[in-house]
Amino acid sequence: MSHSSSILIVGAGIVGIACAYYLRKAGYRVTVIDQGKLAQGCSHANCGFVCPSHVLPLTEPGAIGTAVASLFRPGSPFRVRPQCRPALWRWMWEFARRCRYSQMIRAAGPIKAILDSSMAEYRRIVAEENLECEWRDQGLMMVLQTKRGLARYEHTDRIMTQEFGVPARKISGADLEEFEPALRPGLAGAFYYESDAQVRPDVLNRNWIARLRELEVEFRENCSFQRLRQRRGRAFAAETTGGEIATDYYLLATGAWSARWEQEWRCRLPVEPGKGYSTTLPQPTIRPTHSMLFPEHRVGVTPFADHCRLGSIMEFAGYDETISPDRIRQLHASARPYLKENPSADGQQTWHGWRPMTWDSLPIIGPSPRLKNAFVATGHNMLGLSMAPATGRLITELIQNRPPHIDAEPYSPERF
Ligand SMILES: Cc1cc2nc3c(=O)[nH]c(=O)nc-3n(C[C@H](O)[C@H](O)[C@H](O)COP(=O)(O)OP(=O)(O)OC[C@H]3O[C@@H](n4cnc5c(N)ncnc54)[C@H](O)[C@@H]3O)c2cc1C
Repeated sequence: MSHSSSILIVGAGIVGIACAYYLRKAGYRVTVIDQGKLAQGCSHANCGFVCPSHVLPLTEPGAIGTAVASLFRPGSPFRVRPQCRPALWRWMWEFARRCRYSQMIRAAGPIKAILDSSMAEYRRIVAEENLECEWRDQGLMMVLQTKRGLARYEHTDRIMTQEFGVPARKISGADLEEFEPALRPGLAGAFYYESDAQVRPDVLNRNWIARLRELEVEFRENCSFQRLRQRRGRAFAAETTGGEIATDYYLLATGAWSARWEQEWRCRLPVEPGKGYSTTLPQPTIRPTHSMLFPEHRVGVTPFADHCRLGSIMEFAGYDETISPDRIRQLHASARPYLKENPSADGQQTWHGWRPMTWDSLPIIGPSPRLKNAFVATGHNMLGLSMAPATGRLITELIQNRPPHIDAEPYSPERF
């Protein structure tokens, strides 16, 4: 590895930022471009869970039945807008055929590896760099409203414990209110993952970018990637709306937009935008102390220092930018059965983000099979924040041609 090598990173979301960090620390000269303002994509106002407990992929047995049933249920958190787009139907088909127990277990191994590594890396970086990001070690609670929901989650808990050694502390319905006073009485119970943490994503992004600027990483806003100029199996320049940029290496970290660049990067990138919403609200008087997920209503609650966030919903609706008031009302309605005091909608900040969804629930990290100096780091699904540091570490090891700290093969772009 030459310490004067240069790299262009396309996309300044959490994945691009984390990659820039590791590459800069390894001695590369790093330029990061973004088509808009920095870190305003999916990494901006997500739920902020750093959750190594989320080892199970979306492709679980029964996921298809649940998804199909929800299509006919108004107010369902899952929706596919009918579209004549073969890529979307191929994606759905590939997803559907992985919804089997054996596939679920197979995908969970690499998910766990990258989540565990990321958690360790976050703890180190936040301490070493003194990175202010509202980091809180308060764990993550899965709160169940009904006995049926609790019994279902018990099954998940058994798999997590037996297959992956990720046990949860079970909290009975009777003890729940004392444990988390923001919860209503009468709920069935909860599973508490004590080792999970949370951050405030926009604060993390802002301060990490500031630190990278101190380390002389160059950021260019409103600079859109357009074309990768290539010769004899190597890229030699990127055409952008801000002019041509020539570097030694090129890394695509464009999240949900990645499929557009398959031809330029000369590899398959089956990434679909999975639209989610959040609303950030003034803190209620009965402030939740823990991050929580309500699996039966599929909504998350994150208490920040001076706000509270509700987030959820998965829509396959292309790159639709609208924020429907019905979806925001739905977030509130989904939290209502659980919280004693539903946060007031006055002064709320609503947001949407497109999750970069892959059909096998695994991110795509590695070299382009056909361009020697082009790499990708994308497709982090619902866990890009939780997986970002290990992604940055891994991509740096792959670019340096060093042995990777986790097995890189499951994430390879060559699997498609
Ligand atoms: C409601 C919701 C809640 C979530 N909660 C969590 C959570 O609690 N924990 C967790 O781990 N994950 C969570 N996620 C998922 C997480 O937000 C994503 O996985 C993650 O943000 C993806 O990061 P990224 O950097 O790949 O993409 P992005 O943040 O979208 O960044 C991609 C960037 O590429 C830029 N770009 C695109 N095309 C170009 C181009 N041609 N030229 C230049 N730049 C370009 C975009 O402008 C964008 O800034 C949540 C997602 C949603 C929607």
